[in-house]
Amino acid sequence: MELKQQNYLPDQLLSADARSLHKLIPEPTLFHLPGKQPEPLFISVLLHGNETTGFLALQKLLNKYAGQELPRALSIFFGNTEAASSGIRRLEAQPDFNRIWPGTEIPRCQETDMAAEIVDIMQNKQVFASIDIHNNTGINPHYACVNKLDNQFLQLANLFGRLIVYFIRPKGVQCGAFAEICPAVTLECGKPDQRYGLEHAFQYLDSCIHLGTINQNPVNPKNIDIYHTVAQVKIRSGVKFGFEQTDVEFILDKDIERMNFTEICAGTQFGLLTDSTKMPLTVINEKGESVTDQFFSIVDNRLQIVKNTMPSMLTLNTTVIEQDCMCYLMEKIKR
Ligand SMILES: [Zn+2]
Repeated sequence: MELKQQNYLPDQLLSADARSLHKLIPEPTLFHLPGKQPEPLFISVLLHGNETTGFLALQKLLNKYAGQELPRALSIFFGNTEAASSGIRRLEAQPDFNRIWPGTEIPRCQETDMAAEIVDIMQNKQVFASIDIHNNTGINPHYACVNKLDNQFLQLANLFGRLIVYFIRPKGVQCGAFAEICPAVTLECGKPDQRYGLEHAFQYLDSCIHLGTINQNPVNPKNIDIYHTVAQVKIRSGVKFGFEQTDVEFILDKDIERMNFTEICAGTQFGLLTDSTKMPLTVINEKGESVTDQFFSIVDNRLQIVKNTMPSMLTLNTTVIEQDCMCYLMEKIKR
């Protein structure tokens, strides 16, 4: 897979929908558009094919400036348009396009080479900042993620809102790779198809292309809540799970997504088990160590959390749980 680069956008892009985009952009493609300030803002969209808000917000931005000079050069990466044509995160045979970037733990492949090439190209262009735009499948507030607790990163994230998540795992994410060369954020814009998510992301991009510099002062602690992702929770492969079915080993509570960004107490239940001797989850801390027992226990046939924590990205979508994870667990950073 050779990286495609273009210096102009296909005309129909300004009116295309995410499902038909594949006809215009059949392969992952990096577009470079000139602007008044030459160091480009890098924006990636559709790394996950079903997360359309970033594409729609970008399209709105491009429509706004159609026929005009952009305030700043833009480099835009359209990721998995093939998965987008089917409305899914990724195809079964593909790697996750937000796990292929330098620093990744997946084996080298065409996609990891492509991602490394993009980072090199953007470094040579003296990239101004990087924004990667995603959606959640569960009920979550909007928030920005950073991989460095650096003033410029936090300033860029705070432009999106007061809620910020800091993490260093999973590895191989876009914003982790760009964090090595410029201020970088990931936006999580709620569920796809929500008008407010599109507006919020559009306003954010429009603000960012007007920035002359990124503030280097600390963000006022009154304006910011930073949570640190301390663990990733997965369901062990081979464990049959579901929300309603009675023929599975692990029945998850139907209202788990209400716990997202909520402080939950030790003893809070996540689901029921048919075999109380078999832990269905595996929990990995940010060093990559297994810490399952520090977070979960089985009491009678109930799966419970062991200590006070705050989950994020809990979802009822079983495919996302299988392809990504069940949730992340966070702690508030006191500043
Ligand atoms: Zn995503």
